[in-house]
Amino acid sequence: MTMLTHPIRTCVGCRSRKEQQLLTRYVPNAVGQPVASRASSGRGAWICSESATCITAATKTRAFDRAWKTQSSERQALVTKISTTRQLTRAAQP
Ligand SMILES: [Zn+2]
Repeated sequence: MTMLTHPIRTCVGCRSRKEQQLLTRYVPNAVGQPVASRASSGRGAWICSESATCITAATKTRAFDRAWKTQSSERQALVTKISTTRQLTRAAQP
């Protein structure tokens, strides 16, 4: 077995895969805005270090939300599915 000395992470802004040391980890602050932090536990989103472009791209595409709130996105998808089903049911009735 070969040990990976440099873990690979994907930048959520440009989707490129780089060595972890070339990326900066962001975690959500109290109001859900990205804050650079290596230490905080929980979900993190990786962004190319020193790249305002990648941060902007990640913000526009809501990539931070996807990286941090996988479960709530899944719940949102489920809610959407249920409401779509209700509309179809209502439409089928006279
Ligand atoms: Zn990037």
